[in-house]
Amino acid sequence: MVSRIEENIQRVRERIASAAERCGRRAEDVLLVAVTKTRTVEEMAEAVRCGVGALGENRVQELLLKREAWPADLSAEWRLIGHLQRNKARKVLPAVDAVDSLDSLELARTLGRVAEESGRSLPVLLEVNTSGEASKEGVAPEGLFPLLEGVLAECPNLSPQGLMTIGPLEGGERAVRGAFALLRTLAEGARKEFSIPLKELSMGMSGDFEWAVEEGSTMVRVGTALFGARN
Ligand SMILES: *Cc1c(COP(=O)(O)O)cnc(C)c1O
Repeated sequence: MVSRIEENIQRVRERIASAAERCGRRAEDVLLVAVTKTRTVEEMAEAVRCGVGALGENRVQELLLKREAWPADLSAEWRLIGHLQRNKARKVLPAVDAVDSLDSLELARTLGRVAEESGRSLPVLLEVNTSGEASKEGVAPEGLFPLLEGVLAECPNLSPQGLMTIGPLEGGERAVRGAFALLRTLAEGARKEFSIPLKELSMGMSGDFEWAVEEGSTMVRVGTALFGARN
């Protein structure tokens, strides 16, 4: 029997593939990250058994509890996608494969130090507030280059892989695409300025991932469309 989650994954993958095709990209170049806040370990494990390789959690405490309860025989990539407080960096580091929400040099220094102590290189994405909405985390667009410069100069144990943003809630398709296009443009500028690949663009959620793929997303973060509405 095909479960609801399995069906949803199939449908989301088809939509990613169609969006990729519309703009001459390959579906394999877009990673599906299952966003798992409020979901049970059972739901998450099912998504992984259905082929979703990456999980995105927002909160440190929730992530740690879920990792403790996670089936030992099931491997997945764990990404932190929510705001991280500096005083939780040490706790969360052993539990994550990447931090997608790096938004200040202070946090970068702390994470870098903790990564160094454990002899790791931690992949990070720099979060940019592309919409200017006050409720959004992330550095302002003009703060990106200074942040990246600082990370590259001072944090050798952090490995910046790309940028992350959340599309605006207001303004419809035009505003959302505008924010995604801005993230892509910022990444292009940063690649030139710092001569690093900075390949990843994490953008697109349940309501806007097709636009994101058309604007160049390499990583969509999808919760509701996979698991249903959150309570
Ligand atoms: C909740 C969340 C998502 C996914 O949202 P859905 O609308 O459920 O797909 C993606 N990214 C971040 C940072 C989130 O907090």
